[in-house]
Amino acid sequence: MGAYPITDHFYDVVVVGAGGAGLRATFGMAEKGLKTACLSKVFPTRSHTVAAQGGISAALGNMGEDNWRFHMYDTVKGSDWLGDQDAIEYMCREAIPAIIELEHYGVPFSRTAEGKIYQRAFGGMTTHFGKGQAQRTCAAADRTGHAMLHTLYQQALRCHAEFFIEYFALDLIMDDEGACRGVIALDMAEGTLHRFRAHRTVLATGGYGRAYFSATSAHTCTGDGGGMVLRAGLPLQDLEFVQFHPTGIYGSGCLITEGARGEGGFLTNKDGERFMERYAPNAKDLASRDVVSRAMTMEIRDGRGVGEHGDHIHLHLEHLGAEVLNERLPGISESAKIFAGVDVTKQPIPVIPTVHYNMGGIPTNYHGEVVTLKNGNPDSVVEGLMAIGEAACVSVHGANRLGSNSLLDLVVFGRAAAKRCAATVQSGSAHKPLAESFSEPALTRLDKLRNSNGGSSTAQIRLNMQRVMQRDAAVFRTGETLAEGVADISKVYQSFSDVKVTDRSLIWNSDLLETLELDNLRGQAVVAMNSAANRQESRGAHAREDFPNRDDENWMKHTAAWLDNDTGAVKIDYRPVHMYTLTDEAEVVPPKPRVY
Ligand SMILES: Cc1cc2nc3c(=O)[nH]c(=O)nc-3n(C[C@H](O)[C@H](O)[C@H](O)COP(=O)(O)OP(=O)(O)OC[C@H]3O[C@@H](n4cnc5c(N)ncnc54)[C@H](O)[C@@H]3O)c2cc1C
Repeated sequence: MGAYPITDHFYDVVVVGAGGAGLRATFGMAEKGLKTACLSKVFPTRSHTVAAQGGISAALGNMGEDNWRFHMYDTVKGSDWLGDQDAIEYMCREAIPAIIELEHYGVPFSRTAEGKIYQRAFGGMTTHFGKGQAQRTCAAADRTGHAMLHTLYQQALRCHAEFFIEYFALDLIMDDEGACRGVIALDMAEGTLHRFRAHRTVLATGGYGRAYFSATSAHTCTGDGGGMVLRAGLPLQDLEFVQFHPTGIYGSGCLITEGARGEGGFLTNKDGERFMERYAPNAKDLASRDVVSRAMTMEIRDGRGVGEHGDHIHLHLEHLGAEVLNERLPGISESAKIFAGVDVTKQPIPVIPTVHYNMGGIPTNYHGEVVTLKNGNPDSVVEGLMAIGEAACVSVHGANRLGSNSLLDLVVFGRAAAKRCAATVQSGSAHKPLAESFSEPALTRLDKLRNSNGGSSTAQIRLNMQRVMQRDAAVFRTGETLAEGVADISKVYQSFSDVKVTDRSLIWNSDLLETLELDNLRGQAVVAMNSAANRQESRGAHAREDFPNRDDENWMKHTAAWLDNDTGAVKIDYRPVHMYTLTDEAEVVPPKPRVY
């Protein structure tokens, strides 16, 4: 420890992450009088949430009839019956006050002619339990995440939350009873180490999209919270469920929001056919994302892709006209111009399914408290530790997330975590004494990585990992490709022991930091591949060609996977799906075939 002097900080709550989830929690906690610190490795308003385009769902009914029970039905169906129905009820019901609050805090939503929040159609969002098309997604043009993030940051500052910006959280501080007592972080501007003691530590670190070669997520999406949890000896849940968004721009991976199809855009193959009419006769281009991504992949495989290599699909927006495009979709019109050289008023956009969202993550209950399987209890709460946002798995998205339900997940469960902390933490209460040994694993790991002097660069190992994930944990999977994937990703995992860190400094432009991120990513890559190989059915985003059907009898259960961090071996168990509601105002949605 002597080599690394540490500055101690004491807070009621520490939130790691300043995206939509972290900021909503930080602001809510500070507002309730808790002494709250928020750590972020990038400036808060540069968090990945800033990229969210299409909007945030809530059954406000501003543009036609709607009801939170319809939203709940759609979310359960979208999840392919892997979502926990208590949490889904909570999210869909609380969506309404949570969005009205956002409006009052200052989010500049687009408006209807009467001045209400504008709502657009999104995939899988229906009325009357699948019978009509809902307009449920509240939008600030196609820059909804940007608008939310700026508003939430301002509100957090107003409530005197304390920000530690460009602080990189390294590891959780776990005591010998398995409780979390805070986090160790690196100030990347100064190169100094800091120990944050807290009664609750909230991980809001986002997804691990960068485990893949082509993803819509930012380069900062390296699953740092998930990596910390695996090193703390806790499980991650349902990592085999990775969402491919149907419309990443061909070649760059940059996203074209589903809101584009919500506004009337449609897909065609090389014959100019609107092929979604064959795969989803009712919802067509607005079927759920996994359904559209699979349909596009099948068109390409069957030789009906567009372009020189027949390897992508066209998205048409030309018929919407310049006025609608300028008003409702200005950001994506610009992206199409920059990344595909396309004028959307005249030409279709070349698109391809691209990795977009991680349904799996750190298992929690609907308060945001981290849970694990312990002594026969599948919902045993880990004291002191919470997780929210894309880093977490509540699980409201189950096997497949509906578009615009993620931004909602961030604010509803960020808010729920704040409420839980306000109810259970006494502001200013004393921190228990902490043995120095509880901080040692984090410092030993840092020291070891810093002095790594093997034969492979961080960039090379990362590329190897991304290639294996892209090839074998793909839109379609088979036992054979997954077995190959398990063997190859395990080799990549182990090759990390041969990493060479060239710049050992503790400040933000050193390759040590990228190595720390890679360490987090590789754990989640190996868990995702093993979890996928184990699940012998097709459900939501996990499509097995050798097990093409959903198998509720054997597989309606959550994967819980632990990692042996030394060897990369994965141990898998299962937790039951919550097939119950919180109140008798909601009814359990019984499983049935998922057709659109
Ligand atoms: C292009 C795109 C468009 C999208 N559009 C929509 C949409 O319209 N509607 C919708 O519902 N969803 C959308 N999504 C999904 C949604 O944007 C994300 O799921 C969501 O923003 C994740 O938010 P978060 O708060 O969990 O994490 P993030 O926004 O990723 O924030 C993570 C935070 O954690 C911090 N952090 C991470 N690791 C560390 C560390 N080690 N130490 C300190 N800080 C750390 C980061 O600095 C950051 O502040 C979109 C996704 C993409 C890729």
